[in-house]
Amino acid sequence: MKKMKHKGILIVVSGFSGAGKGTLMKQLVHSYDNYALSVSMTTRNPRPGEEEGKEYFFVSREEFEEKIAQDGLIEYASYCDNYYGTPREYVERQLEKGKDVILEIEIQGALKIKKKFPTALLMFVMPPDAAELKKRLEGRGTESQEVIEKRLKRASEEAEGIEQYDYIVINDKLEECVEKMHSLVQAAHCAPSRNEERIENMRKELEALN
Ligand code: ADP
Ligand code: 5GP
Repeated sequence: MKKMKHKGILIVVSGFSGAGKGTLMKQLVHSYDNYALSVSMTTRNPRPGEEEGKEYFFVSREEFEEKIAQDGLIEYASYCDNYYGTPREYVERQLEKGKDVILEIEIQGALKIKKKFPTALLMFVMPPDAAELKKRLEGRGTESQEVIEKRLKRASEEAEGIEQYDYIVINDKLEECVEKMHSLVQAAHCAPSRNEERIENMRKELEALN
C-alpha cells in the first residue's frame, strides 16, 4: 500500500466568553492524543492560576507588534482592548506532523483563518441559554463586573456571525459536548476536500489497471 502524506486538520473553536471553550479544549486534549492545542499570544494580564506558555504567551503591546511585523502570527485580532494572536510556527509544525491543531480564537480571527485555510473546520460553542452564560462568566470569578458587561455586550455582536461557522455545539453537559466535538472532527477527516491526495492516488491506480 502506498504511504500517504497525512496532514492534520486545522480546527477553529470560537464561542462567547464564558461558554466553556477553555474547559472543553483541556478535556478534549486530555481524552484523545491526536490533538495539538495552539497557545496564543496576548497583551492581556494573566488571570490567577494562568501560567506563561500554558494558557497564553503574555507579552507587552510592543512585543506583540514586533511579532506582527515579523509575520510571526497566522492571524490576530483586537478583543475588549487587548491583542490576541496565533503564533505561526507551532501550528505549521503540528499540522505537518499530522496532528489536528486547535485554535481557540474569537470570530474576527476565525474568519481570517477560513479565508486563508479553506479546509479549516470551524465550530462555535454555545451555552444552553444566555442566563447560563452570565452565570458561568460570573461564577468563574476572574473578571470585574465591568469587564463581564463588556464581554456580554461583545457576545451579542459575535452572535451575528454564527452562521459563518460549519457547526454549533451546545455545551450543556461537558462530557457530551467533548464527545460531539471529537465526532465532528472524525467526520471532517472523511470529507473529499480533506482527502485529495488519496483520491488522486486511487484514480491513478485505476488508470494503471485498465
Ligand atoms: P471560556 O474559555 O469559553 O471563556 P471557560 O472554559 O473559562 O470559558 O468556562 C467558564 C466557566 O464555566 C468556568 O468556571 C467553567 O468551569 C464553567 N463551565 C464550563 N463548561 C461548563 C459546563 N458544561 N457546565 C457548567 N459549567 C461549565
Ligand atoms: P480570554 O481573555 O477570555 O482568554 O479570551 C478572549 C477572547 O479571545 C476569546 O474569545 C478567545 O477565544 C479569543 N482568543 C484567544 N486567543 C486568540 C488568538 O490567538 N486570536 C484571536 N483572534 N482570538 C483569540
